[in-house]
Amino acid sequence: MYRGTYAQPGGSSRRRRRRTNLFLALVFLLELAVIGGFAAWLLLPEEPNRPESSQPGPEQPSVSAPVEPEPVPEDPAVTQARTQLLEEARQLMRGYYYEEALQLLDGAPDLANDETDALRQELADLQAQLVPYADGQFYHIFFHSLIVDTDKAFDGDYDAPGYDLYMTTVSEFEAMLPKLQEAGFVLVDIHDLVEFQDGVAVRKEILLPPGKKPLVLSVDDVNYYQYMADDGFASRLDLDENGQVKAVVDGVLTDNGDVVPILGRYVAEHPEFSWRGAKGILALTGYEGAFGYRITDLEDYDEATGQAMLQKTQAVAQALRETGWQIACHSYTHNQYWNNRTITMEQIQYDIGRWKRDIAPYVGETDIFISPFGVSFARDDARMAFLREQGFSIYCHVDSTMPTKWDGSWFIQGRINLDGLTMKRYPERISQYFFDPSEILDPARPQ
Ligand SMILES: [Zn+2]
Repeated sequence: MYRGTYAQPGGSSRRRRRRTNLFLALVFLLELAVIGGFAAWLLLPEEPNRPESSQPGPEQPSVSAPVEPEPVPEDPAVTQARTQLLEEARQLMRGYYYEEALQLLDGAPDLANDETDALRQELADLQAQLVPYADGQFYHIFFHSLIVDTDKAFDGDYDAPGYDLYMTTVSEFEAMLPKLQEAGFVLVDIHDLVEFQDGVAVRKEILLPPGKKPLVLSVDDVNYYQYMADDGFASRLDLDENGQVKAVVDGVLTDNGDVVPILGRYVAEHPEFSWRGAKGILALTGYEGAFGYRITDLEDYDEATGQAMLQKTQAVAQALRETGWQIACHSYTHNQYWNNRTITMEQIQYDIGRWKRDIAPYVGETDIFISPFGVSFARDDARMAFLREQGFSIYCHVDSTMPTKWDGSWFIQGRINLDGLTMKRYPERISQYFFDPSEILDPARPQ
């Protein structure tokens, strides 16, 4: 389609070029005849008398110049612009932005040549090779904030056993990404798996390169709770001078302090690991604010600090959404009444009401509910109906086989925790789908 619109102006110039070529060919033939005669005359005398050897210099240009006009060298600025264009288009291609890459090439007809034509063809071929993902198995992995400093996390204090069970270290997470990519996984937006027709969830067709498997990733409790301070984790998400989301560790913006910046860096280097820029879902509670900003305890801060925290929360959320992240509700309280499923209608109304009032205005509305403690409820439970009324239509619990259902008005997906608990106690739950966790287990974990 883009080729078609582009072919119109190109066609007439190509016809013009053909006429010019015919004319040049005639001139060339005439010249050959003239030069042929001249050369025959030159060859008559003895070898040493040939003008080439005896009389180089002024004679030569008049003989050789008209034979074949030197191709006019391209303006280096044009060559450079094309190199850059090709590089940008190839980067888009690696991230499966095929249409966008074609549009980019279309936007620069002056730079078109064999190289751009070849890339155009490659893009068309890749697009034609995409197949609908037809398998019944879907994949959803989840994490908590990553352990940056294992000495602090595994220092034998009260929290250490919990960190060993429920957390993943930076080195483990970094080692998992290439293994997942090698195993054929590609990150997708969970919204790519479902569409709602008259309020009913139906499987959405997702086109992927043959052999690729769609992977959803989520991170729970991206709140940087107070209890984790000084235990070797980042303390908040923040923006660098380029507006990129980084994790603050010991007061310093870092590239490797948590899932968000590490995955951002990995996808920038390996765009083929992410379907059109998809990253994952960040699940937030509210009782200690969001992203490390205590926006639900504003009374503890002066007015200016409070306003700055609210603005920063909004800015971080916006930058995350613009870079392939979704934000989910993980309840406001994360209270035990969720865990033991005794939460009453009154309690769930209070809990979700607080999230909608105190968190959503700053991180944005969401249709994704990631249940605290990974709990699930029966589909006809009144509390599920309440959540659906509140605008949630995607419900993610915890289940290592990652069942995925389009169930009435809900899209429901189980998730597997790639943490110490699963890696150490149930490694086969990971190896049957992803990789052998013993190869990446951090030796700094308690034995
Ligand atoms: Zn949680």
